[in-house]
Amino acid sequence: MTDTSETDTTTTSDADLRAAVERGIPATIAELCALVKIPSVAWAAFDPSHVQASAEAVAALARGLDVFESVEIKQAGIPGSSDLGQPAVLATRRARNGRPTVLLYAHHDVQPPGKDEDWESSPFEATVRGDRLYGRGAADDKAGVMAHIASIRALVEAEGPDFNLGLALFIEGEEEFGSRSFATFLEENREALRADAIVVADSNNWDIDTPALTIGLRGNVTFRLTVRTLDHASHSGMFGGAVPDAMLATIALLATLHDADGSVAVTGLTSHEQATPDYSEQQLRLETGLIDGVATIGRGTILSRIWSQPSITVTGIDAPSVANASNTLSPSISVRVSTRIAPGQVAADAYVALEKHLLEHAPFGAKVEIDDVDMGEPFLVDTSGWAVAEARQAMADAWGTEPVDIGVGGSIPFIADLVRVFPEAQILVTGVEDPDSRAHSPNESLHLGVFKRAVLSEALLLGRLNQRTGH
Ligand SMILES: [Zn+2]
Repeated sequence: MTDTSETDTTTTSDADLRAAVERGIPATIAELCALVKIPSVAWAAFDPSHVQASAEAVAALARGLDVFESVEIKQAGIPGSSDLGQPAVLATRRARNGRPTVLLYAHHDVQPPGKDEDWESSPFEATVRGDRLYGRGAADDKAGVMAHIASIRALVEAEGPDFNLGLALFIEGEEEFGSRSFATFLEENREALRADAIVVADSNNWDIDTPALTIGLRGNVTFRLTVRTLDHASHSGMFGGAVPDAMLATIALLATLHDADGSVAVTGLTSHEQATPDYSEQQLRLETGLIDGVATIGRGTILSRIWSQPSITVTGIDAPSVANASNTLSPSISVRVSTRIAPGQVAADAYVALEKHLLEHAPFGAKVEIDDVDMGEPFLVDTSGWAVAEARQAMADAWGTEPVDIGVGGSIPFIADLVRVFPEAQILVTGVEDPDSRAHSPNESLHLGVFKRAVLSEALLLGRLNQRTGH
Protein backbone atom coordinates (compact mmCIF):
# COMPACT_ATOMS: atom_id res chain seq x y z
CA MET A 1 0.00 0.00 0.00
CA THR A 2 1.32 3.48 -0.85
CA ASP A 3 1.13 6.25 1.62
CA THR A 4 -0.50 9.31 0.07
CA SER A 5 -0.77 12.59 1.88
CA GLU A 6 -4.12 14.29 2.23
CA THR A 7 -3.29 17.08 -0.22
CA ASP A 8 -2.54 14.51 -2.95
CA THR A 9 -6.00 13.00 -2.82
CA THR A 10 -8.20 16.07 -2.41
CA THR A 11 -9.08 18.87 -4.79
CA THR A 12 -9.00 22.53 -3.84
CA SER A 13 -12.76 22.50 -3.47
CA ASP A 14 -12.55 19.59 -1.01
CA ALA A 15 -10.10 21.58 1.10
CA ASP A 16 -12.47 24.59 1.08
CA LEU A 17 -15.35 22.36 2.11
CA ARG A 18 -13.31 20.79 4.92
CA ALA A 19 -12.41 24.22 6.26
CA ALA A 20 -16.00 25.43 5.99
CA VAL A 21 -17.34 22.38 7.84
CA GLU A 22 -14.72 22.81 10.57
CA ARG A 23 -15.60 26.51 11.02
CA GLY A 24 -19.33 25.81 11.03
CA ILE A 25 -19.46 23.00 13.60
CA PRO A 26 -19.79 25.09 16.82
CA ALA A 27 -22.74 27.08 15.42
CA THR A 28 -24.29 23.89 14.05
CA ILE A 29 -24.11 22.19 17.47
CA ALA A 30 -25.70 25.27 19.06
CA GLU A 31 -28.54 25.13 16.50
CA LEU A 32 -28.97 21.41 17.16
CA CYS A 33 -29.26 22.11 20.91
CA ALA A 34 -31.96 24.70 20.17
CA LEU A 35 -33.90 22.14 18.11
CA VAL A 36 -33.58 19.51 20.88
CA LYS A 37 -35.18 22.03 23.30
CA ILE A 38 -38.46 21.74 21.35
CA PRO A 39 -40.29 18.57 22.48
CA SER A 40 -41.64 17.78 19.01
CA VAL A 41 -43.37 14.46 19.65
CA ALA A 42 -45.90 13.83 16.86
CA TRP A 43 -47.88 11.14 18.72
CA ALA A 44 -51.59 11.87 19.15
CA ALA A 45 -51.45 12.30 22.95
CA PHE A 46 -48.79 15.06 22.75
CA ASP A 47 -49.24 18.81 22.19
CA PRO A 48 -49.02 19.39 18.40
CA SER A 49 -47.91 23.03 18.89
CA HIS A 50 -44.40 21.75 19.63
CA VAL A 51 -44.21 19.97 16.27
CA GLN A 52 -45.39 23.20 14.62
CA ALA A 53 -42.70 25.15 16.53
CA SER A 54 -40.00 22.73 15.47
CA ALA A 55 -41.15 22.93 11.82
CA GLU A 56 -40.89 26.75 12.08
CA ALA A 57 -37.40 26.48 13.58
CA VAL A 58 -36.26 24.18 10.76
CA ALA A 59 -37.85 26.46 8.13
CA ALA A 60 -35.97 29.43 9.65
CA LEU A 61 -32.69 27.51 9.38
CA ALA A 62 -33.46 26.68 5.73
CA ARG A 63 -34.33 30.33 4.94
CA GLY A 64 -31.13 31.45 6.65
CA LEU A 65 -29.08 29.51 4.10
CA ASP A 66 -30.26 31.93 1.38
CA VAL A 67 -30.07 29.34 -1.39
CA PHE A 68 -33.67 28.17 -1.70
CA GLU A 69 -36.19 29.63 -4.14
CA SER A 70 -38.97 28.55 -1.82
CA VAL A 71 -39.21 27.42 1.82
CA GLU A 72 -42.62 26.27 3.02
CA ILE A 73 -44.22 24.47 5.94
CA LYS A 74 -46.72 22.02 4.48
CA GLN A 75 -49.15 19.36 5.59
CA ALA A 76 -50.79 16.58 3.59
CA GLY A 77 -53.88 14.46 4.14
CA ILE A 78 -53.88 11.11 5.90
CA PRO A 79 -55.48 8.40 3.74
CA GLY A 80 -58.74 7.13 5.25
CA SER A 81 -59.04 10.13 7.58
CA SER A 82 -60.15 13.75 7.34
CA ASP A 83 -57.12 14.84 9.40
CA LEU A 84 -53.94 16.40 8.08
CA GLY A 85 -50.53 14.98 8.93
CA GLN A 86 -47.99 16.90 11.02
CA PRO A 87 -46.17 19.86 9.42
CA ALA A 88 -43.16 19.14 7.21
CA VAL A 89 -40.64 21.60 5.82
CA LEU A 90 -40.11 21.67 2.06
CA ALA A 91 -37.43 23.89 0.53
CA THR A 92 -36.38 23.82 -3.11
CA ARG A 93 -33.98 25.33 -5.63
CA ARG A 94 -33.74 24.33 -9.27
CA ALA A 95 -30.62 22.77 -10.76
CA ARG A 96 -28.75 24.80 -13.38
CA ASN A 97 -26.33 24.04 -16.19
CA GLY A 98 -27.11 20.34 -16.39
CA ARG A 99 -26.27 19.55 -12.77
CA PRO A 100 -28.24 16.96 -10.80
CA THR A 101 -30.85 17.60 -8.12
CA VAL A 102 -30.51 16.02 -4.68
CA LEU A 103 -33.37 15.48 -2.27
CA LEU A 104 -32.24 15.62 1.36
CA TYR A 105 -34.57 13.88 3.81
CA ALA A 106 -34.63 13.84 7.60
CA HIS A 107 -37.37 14.20 10.24
CA HIS A 108 -37.83 16.83 12.93
CA ASP A 109 -40.25 14.91 15.14
CA VAL A 110 -38.94 12.71 17.93
CA GLN A 111 -39.90 9.69 20.01
CA PRO A 112 -41.61 10.37 23.35
CA PRO A 113 -38.97 10.77 26.09
CA GLY A 114 -40.28 8.06 28.41
CA LYS A 115 -39.67 8.51 32.13
CA ASP A 116 -37.55 11.52 33.15
CA GLU A 117 -35.87 9.54 35.94
CA ASP A 118 -34.39 7.14 33.37
CA TRP A 119 -32.42 10.05 31.89
CA GLU A 120 -29.12 11.21 33.35
CA SER A 121 -29.87 14.73 32.10
CA SER A 122 -33.19 16.26 31.03
CA PRO A 123 -34.26 14.82 27.62
CA PHE A 124 -35.05 18.24 26.12
CA GLU A 125 -31.99 20.01 27.51
CA ALA A 126 -29.15 18.96 25.22
CA THR A 127 -26.13 18.19 27.38
CA VAL A 128 -22.55 17.35 26.41
CA ARG A 129 -20.83 14.60 28.42
CA GLY A 130 -17.50 13.39 27.09
CA ASP A 131 -17.66 13.01 23.29
CA ARG A 132 -21.43 12.85 23.21
CA LEU A 133 -24.42 15.18 23.11
CA TYR A 134 -27.35 13.76 25.07
CA GLY A 135 -31.01 14.55 24.47
CA ARG A 136 -34.16 13.25 22.79
CA GLY A 137 -33.64 13.79 19.06
CA ALA A 138 -29.96 14.75 19.55
CA ALA A 139 -29.29 11.87 17.15
CA ASP A 140 -32.64 10.61 15.73
CA ASP A 141 -33.14 12.68 13.77
CA LYS A 142 -32.50 16.32 14.57
CA ALA A 143 -28.81 15.62 13.93
CA GLY A 144 -29.89 14.35 10.49
CA VAL A 145 -31.69 17.68 9.94
CA MET A 146 -28.58 19.59 11.01
CA ALA A 147 -26.28 17.44 8.85
CA HIS A 148 -28.27 18.66 5.82
CA ILE A 149 -28.29 22.30 6.96
CA ALA A 150 -24.57 22.28 7.84
CA SER A 151 -23.46 20.58 4.63
CA ILE A 152 -25.44 23.03 2.46
CA ARG A 153 -23.96 25.91 4.47
CA ALA A 154 -20.45 24.57 3.87
CA LEU A 155 -21.21 24.33 0.14
CA VAL A 156 -22.38 27.97 0.12
CA GLU A 157 -19.19 29.06 1.88
CA ALA A 158 -16.96 27.12 -0.50
CA GLU A 159 -18.80 27.85 -3.77
CA GLY A 160 -20.84 30.98 -3.12
CA PRO A 161 -24.66 31.03 -3.15
CA ASP A 162 -24.95 30.70 -6.96
CA PHE A 163 -23.92 27.07 -7.20
CA ASN A 164 -25.50 24.85 -9.86
CA LEU A 165 -26.68 21.88 -7.81
CA GLY A 166 -30.46 21.48 -7.50
CA LEU A 167 -31.71 20.90 -3.96
CA ALA A 168 -34.93 19.77 -2.33
CA LEU A 169 -34.89 19.71 1.46
CA PHE A 170 -37.73 17.62 2.91
CA ILE A 171 -37.90 17.48 6.70
CA GLU A 172 -40.83 15.31 7.78
CA GLY A 173 -42.80 15.94 10.97
CA GLU A 174 -44.24 12.52 11.83
CA GLU A 175 -41.74 9.77 11.05
CA GLU A 176 -41.89 8.42 14.59
CA PHE A 177 -45.69 8.37 14.35
CA GLY A 178 -45.83 6.13 11.28
CA SER A 179 -45.35 8.68 8.44
CA ARG A 180 -49.13 8.66 8.02
CA SER A 181 -49.31 11.44 5.43
CA PHE A 182 -45.99 10.64 3.74
CA ALA A 183 -47.41 8.98 0.60
CA THR A 184 -49.93 11.81 0.08
CA PHE A 185 -47.19 14.38 0.66
CA LEU A 186 -45.07 12.77 -2.07
CA GLU A 187 -48.00 12.74 -4.51
CA GLU A 188 -48.97 16.35 -3.80
CA ASN A 189 -45.39 17.63 -4.03
CA ARG A 190 -44.10 15.27 -6.67
CA GLU A 191 -42.59 17.96 -8.89
CA ALA A 192 -40.93 19.84 -6.04
CA LEU A 193 -39.41 16.64 -4.66
CA ARG A 194 -38.25 15.11 -7.95
CA ALA A 195 -34.52 14.40 -7.76
CA ASP A 196 -31.72 12.31 -9.26
CA ALA A 197 -30.50 11.17 -5.87
CA ILE A 198 -32.18 11.05 -2.47
CA VAL A 199 -30.18 11.17 0.76
CA VAL A 200 -32.12 9.68 3.69
CA ALA A 201 -30.09 10.68 6.77
CA ASP A 202 -31.83 8.48 9.32
CA SER A 203 -29.72 5.36 9.80
CA ASN A 204 -26.57 4.07 11.44
CA ASN A 205 -22.82 3.97 11.06
CA TRP A 206 -20.88 0.76 11.66
CA ASP A 207 -19.00 2.24 14.61
CA ILE A 208 -17.65 5.64 15.61
CA ASP A 209 -14.65 5.26 13.26
CA THR A 210 -16.32 3.52 10.31
CA PRO A 211 -19.08 4.98 8.13
CA ALA A 212 -21.83 2.85 6.67
CA LEU A 213 -24.18 2.99 3.74
CA THR A 214 -27.42 1.12 4.39
CA ILE A 215 -28.01 -0.90 1.24
CA GLY A 216 -30.72 -3.31 2.33
CA LEU A 217 -33.75 -3.29 4.60
CA ARG A 218 -35.97 -6.28 5.21
CA GLY A 219 -39.68 -5.99 4.50
CA ASN A 220 -42.51 -7.60 6.40
CA VAL A 221 -45.60 -9.74 5.89
CA THR A 222 -47.75 -10.01 9.00
CA PHE A 223 -51.13 -11.70 9.37
CA ARG A 224 -53.55 -13.52 11.64
CA LEU A 225 -53.70 -17.27 11.13
CA THR A 226 -56.74 -19.12 12.43
CA VAL A 227 -56.82 -22.92 12.62
CA ARG A 228 -60.18 -24.75 13.11
CA THR A 229 -60.79 -28.42 13.69
CA LEU A 230 -64.10 -28.64 15.59
CA ASP A 231 -67.51 -26.95 15.45
CA HIS A 232 -67.58 -26.62 19.22
CA ALA A 233 -65.51 -27.40 22.31
CA SER A 234 -65.77 -30.86 23.89
CA HIS A 235 -64.54 -32.54 27.06
CA SER A 236 -60.97 -33.69 26.50
CA GLY A 237 -61.59 -36.81 28.59
CA MET A 238 -64.61 -37.81 26.53
CA PHE A 239 -63.12 -37.36 23.03
CA GLY A 240 -59.41 -36.57 23.43
CA GLY A 241 -57.32 -39.04 21.46
CA ALA A 242 -59.92 -39.51 18.70
CA VAL A 243 -60.29 -36.02 17.18
CA PRO A 244 -57.63 -33.31 16.83
CA ASP A 245 -58.07 -30.15 18.89
CA ALA A 246 -57.11 -26.87 17.22
CA MET A 247 -54.09 -26.39 19.50
CA LEU A 248 -52.58 -29.69 18.35
CA ALA A 249 -53.16 -28.74 14.71
CA THR A 250 -51.76 -25.21 15.23
CA ILE A 251 -48.61 -26.45 16.96
CA ALA A 252 -48.04 -29.05 14.22
CA LEU A 253 -48.61 -26.46 11.48
CA LEU A 254 -46.36 -23.79 13.03
CA ALA A 255 -43.62 -26.39 13.50
CA THR A 256 -43.42 -26.82 9.71
CA LEU A 257 -42.31 -23.19 9.27
CA HIS A 258 -38.75 -23.89 10.48
CA ASP A 259 -36.14 -26.60 9.96
CA ALA A 260 -34.57 -28.35 12.94
CA ASP A 261 -31.81 -25.68 13.09
CA GLY A 262 -34.35 -22.86 13.19
CA SER A 263 -33.92 -21.77 9.55
CA VAL A 264 -37.08 -20.75 7.72
CA ALA A 265 -38.44 -23.76 5.78
CA VAL A 266 -41.01 -22.08 3.53
CA THR A 267 -40.43 -22.70 -0.18
CA GLY A 268 -40.62 -19.45 -2.12
CA LEU A 269 -39.24 -17.15 0.58
CA THR A 270 -35.96 -15.93 -0.90
CA SER A 271 -32.64 -14.81 0.55
CA HIS A 272 -30.29 -12.16 -0.76
CA GLU A 273 -26.54 -12.65 -1.18
CA GLN A 274 -24.64 -9.92 0.61
CA ALA A 275 -21.16 -9.80 2.10
CA THR A 276 -21.38 -9.06 5.83
CA PRO A 277 -18.86 -7.57 8.25
CA ASP A 278 -17.63 -9.66 11.18
CA TYR A 279 -20.02 -9.94 14.08
CA SER A 280 -19.35 -12.57 16.72
CA GLU A 281 -21.73 -15.03 18.35
CA GLN A 282 -20.52 -13.65 21.67
CA GLN A 283 -21.70 -10.15 20.73
CA LEU A 284 -25.04 -11.55 19.58
CA ARG A 285 -25.42 -13.38 22.92
CA LEU A 286 -24.65 -10.19 24.80
CA GLU A 287 -26.95 -7.91 22.78
CA THR A 288 -29.95 -10.27 22.84
CA GLY A 289 -29.56 -11.77 26.31
CA LEU A 290 -29.37 -15.28 24.84
CA ILE A 291 -29.25 -17.63 27.82
CA ASP A 292 -26.16 -19.80 28.37
CA GLY A 293 -26.61 -23.18 26.73
CA VAL A 294 -29.29 -21.95 24.29
CA ALA A 295 -28.09 -22.19 20.68
CA THR A 296 -28.41 -19.54 17.98
CA ILE A 297 -30.65 -20.42 15.03
CA GLY A 298 -30.26 -20.25 11.27
CA ARG A 299 -27.47 -20.71 8.76
CA GLY A 300 -24.79 -18.53 7.21
CA THR A 301 -23.09 -15.56 8.87
CA ILE A 302 -24.98 -14.08 11.80
CA LEU A 303 -25.55 -10.74 10.06
CA SER A 304 -26.78 -12.47 6.89
CA ARG A 305 -29.45 -14.15 9.02
CA ILE A 306 -30.60 -10.74 10.27
CA TRP A 307 -30.08 -8.63 7.15
CA SER A 308 -30.63 -10.80 4.12
CA GLN A 309 -32.55 -13.95 5.02
CA PRO A 310 -36.22 -14.25 5.97
CA SER A 311 -37.35 -14.90 9.53
CA ILE A 312 -40.72 -15.96 10.95
CA THR A 313 -41.89 -15.19 14.48
CA VAL A 314 -45.19 -15.99 16.15
CA THR A 315 -45.82 -12.79 18.09
CA GLY A 316 -49.21 -13.46 19.65
CA ILE A 317 -51.72 -16.21 20.31
CA ASP A 318 -55.44 -16.24 21.14
CA ALA A 319 -56.01 -19.40 23.15
CA PRO A 320 -57.37 -20.22 26.59
CA SER A 321 -55.01 -18.81 29.23
CA VAL A 322 -53.20 -21.09 31.65
CA ALA A 323 -55.25 -19.70 34.54
CA ASN A 324 -58.51 -20.49 32.72
CA ALA A 325 -57.43 -23.81 31.22
CA SER A 326 -60.16 -26.42 31.50
CA ASN A 327 -60.20 -30.01 30.28
CA THR A 328 -61.43 -28.99 26.87
CA LEU A 329 -60.56 -29.66 23.23
CA SER A 330 -60.17 -26.15 21.73
CA PRO A 331 -62.18 -25.79 18.50
CA SER A 332 -60.13 -22.91 17.05
CA ILE A 333 -56.88 -21.06 17.74
CA SER A 334 -55.58 -17.80 16.24
CA VAL A 335 -51.98 -16.64 16.12
CA ARG A 336 -50.22 -13.56 14.78
CA VAL A 337 -47.45 -14.49 12.38
CA SER A 338 -44.76 -11.87 11.71
CA THR A 339 -42.47 -12.56 8.78
CA ARG A 340 -39.41 -10.48 7.89
CA ILE A 341 -38.64 -10.86 4.21
CA ALA A 342 -35.29 -10.47 2.50
CA PRO A 343 -34.31 -7.51 0.33
CA GLY A 344 -35.00 -8.36 -3.29
CA GLN A 345 -38.33 -10.11 -2.71
CA VAL A 346 -41.71 -8.51 -3.45
CA ALA A 347 -43.90 -8.60 -0.33
CA ALA A 348 -46.95 -9.91 -2.23
CA ASP A 349 -44.88 -12.84 -3.58
CA ALA A 350 -43.71 -13.67 -0.07
CA TYR A 351 -47.32 -13.62 1.10
CA VAL A 352 -48.34 -16.06 -1.66
CA ALA A 353 -45.52 -18.44 -0.64
CA LEU A 354 -46.55 -18.30 3.02
CA GLU A 355 -50.23 -18.84 2.26
CA LYS A 356 -49.44 -21.80 -0.01
CA HIS A 357 -47.19 -23.37 2.64
CA LEU A 358 -49.78 -22.99 5.41
CA LEU A 359 -52.63 -24.39 3.30
CA GLU A 360 -50.54 -27.33 2.07
CA HIS A 361 -49.18 -28.22 5.50
CA ALA A 362 -52.41 -28.04 7.48
CA PRO A 363 -52.38 -31.28 9.49
CA PHE A 364 -55.43 -33.60 9.73
CA GLY A 365 -57.22 -31.52 7.09
CA ALA A 366 -57.60 -28.66 9.60
CA LYS A 367 -59.29 -25.51 8.22
CA VAL A 368 -56.81 -22.67 7.85
CA GLU A 369 -57.83 -19.02 7.45
CA ILE A 370 -55.60 -15.99 6.99
CA ASP A 371 -56.76 -12.40 7.48
CA ASP A 372 -55.68 -8.99 8.81
CA VAL A 373 -52.70 -8.99 6.44
CA ASP A 374 -50.12 -6.18 6.63
CA MET A 375 -47.25 -5.92 4.16
CA GLY A 376 -44.20 -3.67 3.84
CA GLU A 377 -41.78 -3.85 0.94
CA PRO A 378 -38.11 -4.57 1.55
CA PHE A 379 -35.53 -2.24 0.10
CA LEU A 380 -32.40 -3.02 -1.86
CA VAL A 381 -30.06 -0.38 -3.26
CA ASP A 382 -28.76 -0.90 -6.76
CA THR A 383 -25.13 -0.36 -5.76
CA SER A 384 -23.98 0.12 -9.36
CA GLY A 385 -25.35 3.68 -9.55
CA TRP A 386 -23.13 6.77 -9.80
CA ALA A 387 -24.65 8.34 -6.72
CA VAL A 388 -23.70 5.29 -4.62
CA ALA A 389 -20.11 5.51 -5.92
CA GLU A 390 -19.98 9.24 -5.12
CA ALA A 391 -21.43 8.70 -1.65
CA ARG A 392 -18.95 5.91 -0.84
CA GLN A 393 -16.03 8.02 -2.02
CA ALA A 394 -17.21 11.05 -0.02
CA MET A 395 -17.52 8.88 3.11
CA ALA A 396 -14.08 7.35 2.58
CA ASP A 397 -12.50 10.80 2.18
CA ALA A 398 -14.32 12.33 5.14
CA TRP A 399 -13.72 9.46 7.59
CA GLY A 400 -10.34 8.30 6.30
CA THR A 401 -11.66 4.75 6.05
CA GLU A 402 -13.82 2.87 3.56
CA PRO A 403 -17.54 2.67 4.36
CA VAL A 404 -19.16 -0.65 5.19
CA ASP A 405 -22.31 -1.72 3.33
CA ILE A 406 -24.86 -2.62 5.97
CA GLY A 407 -28.33 -4.05 6.06
CA VAL A 408 -31.02 -3.46 8.62
CA GLY A 409 -33.20 -6.28 9.90
CA GLY A 410 -36.16 -3.98 10.45
CA SER A 411 -37.77 -1.68 7.93
CA ILE A 412 -38.06 2.04 7.19
CA PRO A 413 -41.56 1.83 5.68
CA PHE A 414 -41.56 5.22 3.94
CA ILE A 415 -38.61 4.21 1.75
CA ALA A 416 -40.97 1.95 -0.21
CA ASP A 417 -43.07 5.07 -0.95
CA LEU A 418 -39.98 6.92 -2.20
CA VAL A 419 -39.06 4.01 -4.48
CA ARG A 420 -42.62 3.78 -5.82
CA VAL A 421 -43.09 7.51 -6.52
CA PHE A 422 -39.52 8.16 -7.73
CA PRO A 423 -38.37 4.92 -9.39
CA GLU A 424 -35.54 6.69 -11.27
CA ALA A 425 -33.96 8.26 -8.20
CA GLN A 426 -30.97 6.62 -6.50
CA ILE A 427 -31.62 6.35 -2.78
CA LEU A 428 -28.71 6.74 -0.36
CA VAL A 429 -29.51 5.78 3.22
CA THR A 430 -26.90 7.44 5.45
CA GLY A 431 -26.99 8.54 9.05
CA VAL A 432 -25.50 10.22 12.07
CA GLU A 433 -26.02 7.40 14.55
CA ASP A 434 -23.54 4.87 15.90
CA PRO A 435 -24.12 1.65 17.90
CA ASP A 436 -24.24 3.59 21.20
CA SER A 437 -26.76 6.25 20.08
CA ARG A 438 -29.73 4.53 21.77
CA ALA A 439 -32.30 6.15 19.49
CA HIS A 440 -35.83 5.79 20.94
CA SER A 441 -34.38 4.95 24.40
CA PRO A 442 -33.49 7.03 27.46
CA ASN A 443 -30.08 8.77 27.24
CA GLU A 444 -30.19 8.99 23.45
CA SER A 445 -27.00 10.63 22.25
CA LEU A 446 -24.97 11.79 19.30
CA HIS A 447 -21.22 11.15 19.02
CA LEU A 448 -19.83 14.59 18.12
CA GLY A 449 -16.93 13.16 16.10
CA VAL A 450 -19.31 10.99 14.09
CA PHE A 451 -21.52 14.02 13.52
CA LYS A 452 -18.65 16.10 12.16
CA ARG A 453 -17.58 13.29 9.84
CA ALA A 454 -21.18 12.81 8.68
CA VAL A 455 -21.49 16.53 7.89
CA LEU A 456 -18.18 16.48 6.02
CA SER A 457 -19.23 13.36 4.05
CA GLU A 458 -22.41 15.07 2.94
CA ALA A 459 -20.65 18.38 2.19
CA LEU A 460 -18.10 16.54 0.00
CA LEU A 461 -20.92 14.66 -1.73
CA LEU A 462 -22.84 17.88 -2.45
CA GLY A 463 -19.65 19.59 -3.63
CA ARG A 464 -18.89 16.82 -6.10
CA LEU A 465 -22.46 16.50 -7.37
CA ASN A 466 -22.41 20.27 -7.90
CA GLN A 467 -19.63 19.68 -10.43
CA ARG A 468 -21.16 16.61 -11.99
CA THR A 469 -22.62 16.74 -15.50
CA GLY A 470 -23.99 13.98 -17.71
CA HIS A 471 -25.76 12.07 -14.94
ZN1 LIG B 1 -35.41 8.44 12.72
